[in-house]
Amino acid sequence: MSDTPKVQETPQAVVVFSGGQDSTTCLVWAMRRFGQVEAVTFDYNQRHELEIECAKRIAEELSVPHHVLRLDLLNQLAPSALTRRDIEIEVGEEGLPSTFVDGRNLIFLSFAAILAKQRGARHIVTGVCQTDFSGYPDCRDVFIKSLNVTLNLAMDYEFVIHTPLMWLTKRDTWALADELGCFDLVRDRTLTCYNGIIGSGCGTCPACVLRNRGLEQYLAERRA
Ligand code: ZN
Repeated sequence: MSDTPKVQETPQAVVVFSGGQDSTTCLVWAMRRFGQVEAVTFDYNQRHELEIECAKRIAEELSVPHHVLRLDLLNQLAPSALTRRDIEIEVGEEGLPSTFVDGRNLIFLSFAAILAKQRGARHIVTGVCQTDFSGYPDCRDVFIKSLNVTLNLAMDYEFVIHTPLMWLTKRDTWALADELGCFDLVRDRTLTCYNGIIGSGCGTCPACVLRNRGLEQYLAERRA
């Protein structure tokens, strides 16, 4: 294929990056592993514009080239508590939280792959995790593996999707951040909280509860 960008010798990676705990840990993980790393953040009118701002600041601090791509269509098609202030954060009747956006990881990873191919990168990194499975079907390992095959066929290109957090608990993700030397950055600068509070967050929303429980577990072990 003459129009396929040549894969460079330095392995290059594109990281799907939201500025939260998981994707920031993945970004640093990728920086330690690949020669060249770029981050991509999707702007789909998420609940807090601060999320985009937070991602920009962290990418800048890490000196990682950062792309912000607009995906308004996602919000038009699949409104959720992440994009609509009038939708409460709760668990719905079918067990799916109201923060679920249908097809989000499918869309994000597909666009990340298009970008990666253009940049001559084969590696795509995402912070999806099956362990803390909140009922999001597109966080499952089987979905990622299936999409990897589909993307390779769709673009005739050998992508490798990496999911360093797939089987980790939140406690393990904190341990990984510490191992990678980015514990303080992740604790103090990332935004996971559904109420838009950077760092330790509001402490009560589902995202904060999960994050803080893992942090307390890890810190208790680290002190011991
Ligand atoms: Zn919170």
